[in-house]
Amino acid sequence: MKIDFLCIGAHPDDCEIAMGGTIAYLSSKGYKGMILDLTNGEPTPRGNPEKRIQEAKKAAEILSVERITLDLKNRFLFDSIEARFKVASIIRKYKPDVIFCHLEIDAHPDHVQAYNISYASRFYSKLTKVNLEGDVWYSKKIFRFFSNHLRINMTPSFVVDISDFISRKIDACKAYESQFSDFQVEEYVKTFARYWGLLARTQYAEPFYSHEILKVDPRFLFE
Ligand SMILES: [Zn+2]
Repeated sequence: MKIDFLCIGAHPDDCEIAMGGTIAYLSSKGYKGMILDLTNGEPTPRGNPEKRIQEAKKAAEILSVERITLDLKNRFLFDSIEARFKVASIIRKYKPDVIFCHLEIDAHPDHVQAYNISYASRFYSKLTKVNLEGDVWYSKKIFRFFSNHLRINMTPSFVVDISDFISRKIDACKAYESQFSDFQVEEYVKTFARYWGLLARTQYAEPFYSHEILKVDPRFLFE
């Protein structure tokens, strides 16, 4: 099954927090998406592996995307050949045109490693004469999202207007009952999305970052 976009997070809930609105938006337009968790996110103070899997499943259903959770080690995630091969195999199998991943600057070491693994795997997936299943594939674009343990402000390359999808984003984040209280999630998601929305002259938005130059359709200049 080919997909259109792949969101790679270190832990279940990272992709939802960073870009749950954009995922819901893309799904509603018919784009096929998948969330790939590199670890199961456990242990955490109030979670357990079984509960976390159920929460992640529910969140993916709310956002209408597939989900795969790899068995790399939470808290000790590391950019390794093994990790790159696992992710590159997924990329070759599902052939996403666009990949979303973590930023390279973060207080959480797993997030930084996830960034490195994602970029390396995008490249590995196009290698020939390597012990990887499936046909070679190179995703056209890779963007970084903001799900960050650093309290920093990074100017995005662009934002996506998620004004019509804020409720679904909140619902998807609330699925992680073991991680957040409902009030905590709603306040954080709304405040953060409102900040970027305000700067982009809309209600709610999510920021994204690109290392590469982006081109836009000229009609967007007038929106
Ligand atoms: Zn995380």
